[in-house]
Amino acid sequence: MTENQHVERIGRKLDKMVQKNNTDGALDLLRELKTITMSLETLQSTRVGMSVNAVRKQSSDQEVQTLAKTLIKSWKKLIDDYKTFGADCSLLAAQIEEQIFEDFKSTDIKYKARLRSRISNLKDQKNPDLRRNVLSGNISTQRIASMTSEEMASEELKKIRETLTQESIREHQLSKVGGSKTDMFVCKNCRGKNCTYTQVQTRSADEPMTTFVVCNDCGKRWKFC
Ligand SMILES: [Zn+2]
Repeated sequence: MTENQHVERIGRKLDKMVQKNNTDGALDLLRELKTITMSLETLQSTRVGMSVNAVRKQSSDQEVQTLAKTLIKSWKKLIDDYKTFGADCSLLAAQIEEQIFEDFKSTDIKYKARLRSRISNLKDQKNPDLRRNVLSGNISTQRIASMTSEEMASEELKKIRETLTQESIREHQLSKVGGSKTDMFVCKNCRGKNCTYTQVQTRSADEPMTTFVVCNDCGKRWKFC
């Protein structure tokens, strides 16, 4: 059975339920639909979205309503992407996967890691440009298939990473210099009072010192001015 036929069959069952005014068993069918990676073509030719929406309206089952809404939302996104970028996401995804498989010639752990990192980066709400670039073809499927995490990261993420690096360097330097043991502070993490602190002038000389504290019991670090 092709994907089209499979979806069509489910759609017909849902339509029947609505006609008979009895949506028992609809949840199982919706769950089945959720496991299918819907292509634009199937979505348009089967019009399954209409069937799901009709069930959503009729059913009083909270779970049916929620799942139907989720499905319709994700399909709507597929159609919007097509309208906006002329891109067929499922086709693009297949091309990217093919390219990655070509690189590893297997579905081993590296292949899976590469796939997963593409998915999480393309889904990243803070990085909409990456998705747009791939959908519009600015970034080719070959290119996205082999980009590093750093390359995929948005400017915003890049900045966060930079500050993290600077802070960790500073902390590293401090831990080398060492600090003074104290019971003045209470660790928010473990409530212990066994801490070490250091005070440094991180900015200009006329500004207050920054105090870096590390909990010797659980390793939690924090700072304050
Ligand atoms: Zn602690």
